[in-house]
Amino acid sequence: MPWLIFFLTTLSTLAHAFPCATQLAISDDVGLPSEETSRLFQTACETLNQFEKKTGDSLDHSITLKIAKRGCLRVGYDFVSQMVVFCSQDGGNKPVKHFGLNSVSVIRHELFHAVTCQFRPEICQLAALKDETTNAILEGTADFFAYLLHPENEFGTDFYEDGSSLRKYGRPLCYSLTEGPHGKGEALASALIHQGYGWSDLSRLLHPEHSFSLASLLTQTDSSCFAGVHSPIMNYSVKDHAASPLHRYWTSPGVALQFRFQPNASLLAQYPLLKLSWSSSARPPLFEILQNSPTAFRLNPLSARGHGEFLVSYSYAGQVVGFRKFRLGIRKIPPP
Ligand SMILES: [Zn+2]
Repeated sequence: MPWLIFFLTTLSTLAHAFPCATQLAISDDVGLPSEETSRLFQTACETLNQFEKKTGDSLDHSITLKIAKRGCLRVGYDFVSQMVVFCSQDGGNKPVKHFGLNSVSVIRHELFHAVTCQFRPEICQLAALKDETTNAILEGTADFFAYLLHPENEFGTDFYEDGSSLRKYGRPLCYSLTEGPHGKGEALASALIHQGYGWSDLSRLLHPEHSFSLASLLTQTDSSCFAGVHSPIMNYSVKDHAASPLHRYWTSPGVALQFRFQPNASLLAQYPLLKLSWSSSARPPLFEILQNSPTAFRLNPLSARGHGEFLVSYSYAGQVVGFRKFRLGIRKIPPP
């Protein structure tokens, strides 16, 4: 285990220069220059020291950061191995710059997952992680933690090769109009920032006497976006298709997909003039998208086969407040 020897050498030389709140191990499968692992060690160490100082909470267990060479699917905290993993993939199509190590905010985000799992091991079990709200809170608080340490407009600007950021902090996203752990997490982090929450609120969520819930975290919010069934909701239907829980729809060449979006009363009350717009990274375009009314769209296939991801953004007063992702495809579908 050469990494262990490396780590022990590194730790022994760095421990004095950067006394750490908790024991840190770096497993370097790549063999990076020692200055780089030293920088990672220092960033992680300072992050955890700040956590203890700002919250008054003490970390008990060691935290391992792994720089993985192969078989690595994404940068992130691995809830099974309980390691922060850095690699050249992020689960998507965009290449990650230098294993994600250039982005201090991403390092801090992933470390906060490790911290959360030290305090709340019960919510880091695979069964508990199936819950959408739990995941959204994990992602939103990790983003918020990175923000509290260094307030900025965007999260993860030094992460992708193409320079795009992972998320924004200032968008007035409505939690109930977003989807996925990171989308809902972005809405949550933005609300925490906007409403002036701070270190004591993060700390409260880590203590088992409080439930790991939006209600425990958001003690002073009056936003209907976190009000459960009374929240703004955008329903939709696709003509002649059963509703897909994963929002995936196939059509045949020459047969249009006809979408109708249906805002509930709470949405209409909060955002009376919501604008819907479609976007897709599919090239060449798979569909001609025609808008028949503010909430009705007709997607005419432009090719005989293909599939891609589509995003419908909901804008209010010129700002995106929510979105829905679709996966749409065209193929010859045999008649039933
Ligand atoms: Zn995360």
